[in-house]
Amino acid sequence: MIEPASESVPAPLPATLYPLADSIGAVSLVQHVGSDKMIANAARVSFGGDSDAPLSKRDEKLIGYLLRERHGSPFEHNLITFKVVCPIFVDRQMVRHRVGVSKNEISGRYVEVAERVYIPSQFRQQAKSNRQASTEADERLDQDAAAGLYRSAWESAYAAYQGLLALGVTREQARGVLPQALYTESYYTFNVRSLLHFLGLRDHDGAQYETRLFARAMGELAEPLFPVTFAAWRSLDEQHSA
Ligand SMILES: Cc1cc2nc3c(=O)[nH]c(=O)nc-3n(C[C@H](O)[C@H](O)[C@H](O)COP(=O)(O)OP(=O)(O)OC[C@H]3O[C@@H](n4cnc5c(N)ncnc54)[C@H](O)[C@@H]3O)c2cc1C
Repeated sequence: MIEPASESVPAPLPATLYPLADSIGAVSLVQHVGSDKMIANAARVSFGGDSDAPLSKRDEKLIGYLLRERHGSPFEHNLITFKVVCPIFVDRQMVRHRVGVSKNEISGRYVEVAERVYIPSQFRQQAKSNRQASTEADERLDQDAAAGLYRSAWESAYAAYQGLLALGVTREQARGVLPQALYTESYYTFNVRSLLHFLGLRDHDGAQYETRLFARAMGELAEPLFPVTFAAWRSLDEQHSA
């Protein structure tokens, strides 16, 4: 179904967000296809009711109904592509999302890995109640000592990487000494269904703080493109957590 022109022109967007506030880690909106209207049309085609009329209140109600009743397929006829520059440990969590997600990543076999490292501004402590989680550190954690160790570890790892390259070792082997705090960069393409699933798991208290910041940035960039769907999804989430 062809969208009316006014439907397909999105509101101006902040194209790039910097989740870690270090001017390296970034989420950029690269492109998108589709709209709330397309989601309603994909559902309405079941009974020959799709149209190129502007999004109506009935369409909005339908989108809420589809989300509530978990009719997922109408949310798949669209795409949103992000460029994500994130620490390798964040990317390792993102790449676990397999369904409705496409990814292409910079290759450490083709190019020399750049010296771009994520340095936490604050170190956290291991949570007591949840073995995966972290909590804000108390005064027993020596922030300066942690920062010093962290820095010397990646500096020495990166120096070893460059030393190996200088000796003539291939990039694909030399990268084996590099730490997970180094940045990697990828294009990620989601559809709205897979993005909402991803956000439900990763923009969540249980997710790692840094990964959550990246997920939240992706949600912020996508929300103005599918405002009705996001509003319905967020209200569903609030009802569940109420
Ligand atoms: C807080 C948190 C902690 C985590 N901790 C760990 C951990 O310690 N170790 C670890 O290995 N992983 C961990 N994960 C990753 C997690 O197990 C999932 O791999 C990841 O969240 C992707 O979710 P998903 O499989 O639902 O997404 P997708 O891969 O995108 O799949 C989407 C949905 O498709 C269906 N689906 C996909 N594949 C299959 C299949 N093979 N068979 C049947 N149905 C399928 C499921 O309904 C699934 O929910 C963690 C995730 C979170 C959010």
